[in-house]
Amino acid sequence: MADDWTPPAGDLMKGKRGIVMGVANQNSIAWGIARQLAAQGADIAFTYQGENLERRVRPLVESIGMDFMIPADVTDDASMDAAFDAVKDKWGKIDFLVHSIAFAGKDELQGSMVANTTREGFRRAMDISVFSFIDTARRASEIMPDGGAMICMTYLGAERTVPSYNVMGVAKAALEAATRYAARDLGPQGIRVNAISAGAMRTLSLAGIRGGKSLMGTGRDWSLLKEDTRMEGVAGAALYLLSELGHSVAGEVHHVDAGFHVVGVPDLPEE
Ligand code: NAD
Repeated sequence: MADDWTPPAGDLMKGKRGIVMGVANQNSIAWGIARQLAAQGADIAFTYQGENLERRVRPLVESIGMDFMIPADVTDDASMDAAFDAVKDKWGKIDFLVHSIAFAGKDELQGSMVANTTREGFRRAMDISVFSFIDTARRASEIMPDGGAMICMTYLGAERTVPSYNVMGVAKAALEAATRYAARDLGPQGIRVNAISAGAMRTLSLAGIRGGKSLMGTGRDWSLLKEDTRMEGVAGAALYLLSELGHSVAGEVHHVDAGFHVVGVPDLPEE
């Protein structure tokens, strides 16, 4: 998916440095965003979840001529401390942050939300998918003395019910609220915080949701554009929000889903 698209090159991110969190493989949304930011001149520190992923992520990072990679497990304070220390040591300050991280257990991402959400599953989904953004926003803001921009990734399941999305929909609703509160807190420091609500895309995360493929099909069939959400649109929106093009935009949840989110009733059959 990501490889059939060439990000437009330019200077919109020239001289800007930032952190991209959440590349797991070439289909990751974080990877599409990173490719676009790099093509516009950004210098990127990549965090990855652990050793297993390093083998997959390193060749991607090297393919765009970069090598700054740091392990970071968002559930582990020591790991987060070390990751942000490494960025501070190398660069002193940053201009942008991309948070593209979420997790809920397979058992939770199916059937009934009421029946299948355990206390532990809820805690884990909220910790990894929501608290981690609050935590990284704080850490990143401390190394943004000249202002900057941050984005996180959300989905329509925050606003409307979506089969199987369940506790992740609850977490995304909290993430969108966290985006607004972080935007309020950090706005006076010249830091813009926004979220991108992407349509369903074929990634590892989608594969963890029961019926994920059908979510993509329905997203396409119901959408205004009658097409899948494309990486270039998501990455383009990220570029806009993270560059000077996004001036005056803060606390926003920007949909990139081929218009799916505005549909109340799908097309009617011929009578
Ligand atoms: P992905 O599986 O490629 O990315 C998810 C990332 O989260 C992975 O890199 C994984 O390593 C990371 N992660 C999970 N637990 C972590 C932890 N404890 N510490 C550090 N990293 C951890 O899938 P994706 O679809 O690219 O997901 C990225 C973001 O986009 C997520 O927030 C997801 O909810 C959101 N999103 C996805 C879709 C979609 O359809 N794929 C749609 C809208 C929003």
